[in-house]
Amino acid sequence: MTETAPCSETLHYAPCPWCGKRSDSPINHLLNQSLVTTWYCHECGESFDLKFDGTGKLWTAKVLDRRCDKILVLLRYGSMGLIVEGSSIAGNPGQQRYFYEEHACPTNFMRHIKVIIDLKDGNIDPHGIFRFIGTVPYTEKIEDCNLTQEDIGKIIGPGGFDVPASSV
Ligand SMILES: [Zn+2]
Repeated sequence: MTETAPCSETLHYAPCPWCGKRSDSPINHLLNQSLVTTWYCHECGESFDLKFDGTGKLWTAKVLDRRCDKILVLLRYGSMGLIVEGSSIAGNPGQQRYFYEEHACPTNFMRHIKVIIDLKDGNIDPHGIFRFIGTVPYTEKIEDCNLTQEDIGKIIGPGGFDVPASSV
């Protein structure tokens, strides 16, 4: 055995000037930059500006009349329904359909799935709704969502994209 020191990492967060809760994401990567950016509080939905001067100091300022609230979004693919956690920026309710149908990569919002529903019978615990294709060794490239169509073809293998018409 080799004696070793435990690993540690310090994460810094911005306090929300409205409710005092910490930001959802760490700000370590911003502490040495000089910039002003607007963030939304995941707890209270209010918005605030964060100012960094490049020395590690942080200033906050409330931003009025802009909110971002958590919402549940209902989506459908064939006979499969999904409820995913999303957010709604006040004043832009018409943007939701565009965001989920055209703008956003489904890989990004699929990781926020709360419920999968078989819409044929309303089953919210639809065991068997998916068909198993196969497995491959895990690689960090997959975690980074940095795959090309060719990469996916290598992973899935011949015939992996063959989808029976009745399954969609
Ligand atoms: Zn807050």
